Amino acid sequence: MEALYGRQIVMTKEDQDTLDCTYQSRRGLFIDSKITCQRCGSHFSKEIARLPTQDYYCPYCIQFGRITSQSYLVSQEEKENPPRLVTFTWQEMLTPAQQEVSCNVLSNFQQHKHSLIWAVTGSGKTEMIFAVLRYCLQNGGRAAIASPRIDVCRELYPRINEVFPKENTLLLYGNSNEIYRYNALTICTTHQLFHFYHAFDLLIIDEIDAFPYEGDKRLAFAQKNALKKNGKYVYLSATPPTHLLRSLKETFCIEKLPVRFHKRPLVVPQLIWYENWKYCYQSNWKIKKFIFYLKKLLQDNNVLVFCPSIYYMQKLYTKVGEFFHSSEIECVSAQDKYREEKVQRMRKGEYRILFCTTILERGVTFDHISVIIMGANHNIFSKSVLVQIAGRVDRKGAYHYGQVLFFYNQQTQAIGEACDEIKRMNRLAKESLFV
Ligand SMILES: [Zn+2]
Repeated sequence: MEALYGRQIVMTKEDQDTLDCTYQSRRGLFIDSKITCQRCGSHFSKEIARLPTQDYYCPYCIQFGRITSQSYLVSQEEKENPPRLVTFTWQEMLTPAQQEVSCNVLSNFQQHKHSLIWAVTGSGKTEMIFAVLRYCLQNGGRAAIASPRIDVCRELYPRINEVFPKENTLLLYGNSNEIYRYNALTICTTHQLFHFYHAFDLLIIDEIDAFPYEGDKRLAFAQKNALKKNGKYVYLSATPPTHLLRSLKETFCIEKLPVRFHKRPLVVPQLIWYENWKYCYQSNWKIKKFIFYLKKLLQDNNVLVFCPSIYYMQKLYTKVGEFFHSSEIECVSAQDKYREEKVQRMRKGEYRILFCTTILERGVTFDHISVIIMGANHNIFSKSVLVQIAGRVDRKGAYHYGQVLFFYNQQTQAIGEACDEIKRMNRLAKESLFV
């Protein structure tokens, strides 16, 4: 019964009796003075979780189907698969810096160690996991690449398919059309990991620092359950937060790649004091400074303007509209149903200025771009977000004088740490290029 390999399916006692295969079964909820959910790891009191039947349920993972005190989590350990041939068609070359990281990650895996790839934005992370993926599959192993964001999964899927054309890769996310089937290579959102149990020999988690992954204990629990007992993780991040690095120090090998694909350093943000940034849309006098810098950046590149909220973005967009032709400027947020289309048009250079919220902080590449952050001191802009946004500039191709401006009216720890990290990575890059 392949469909059960490495899965955990919620069943009642009666459902289980109809199964005609061997299986393992655990209680869905562990009940003591408190209740612990075996699927999401949440602890909670009996009072909040009592059903009219006097049974209990877990309110914290109900989006994956209700699990009650009558439920069992049914799974089956996969049998060991023999080594096999894996078709791998990637023919491009890694840069020497990428090659080093790729080899290290592979050898960590062979020595049963976890890895974190800490690679700056624009360094080509995906190519560096091909070797370890291939090795895992060739040895009969099962692998998954999970990301907290659907967009990333969708973008990754065709690339992985192209490189491993015979793997029949499975793409899973909430509301995806694909129905689960047992296979060796899966790409999924981190939320899909709740359905797996001791499934993967290799579990690659992209953007380990991104929302909604960061800080969600349930996802961390699901991720642990999804890995086989001797399975190994490869984490990917351009901006691992300090607390994460600290927690991985003992158990993970940290592989740093400070050099971008094109070998130019990361663009260091320019900090520009802007007393009135918060209300700059209120008058021509207050907006003057913004327009001055915007026009300066536009001489070389198109401009992305990151705003701390949708409300603010719309106000600013309307005000700036008085100074530019309407066909040149646009705004986009997560709530925008034309989001994809607008991003595409910006990519083609049809707009000169795109106002946005943090939705474009990662995963998107534009040519010929500079960025401005309005209110870099706002608490929505954490160190990671600031580094990610700065990383949108000068990602590939020829050099176009892309710039990064942080407008702020208060110094914050995040601003200081973001600038320090960018400079530190540039120093490391310089050293590694001269070795
Ligand atoms: Zn739960």
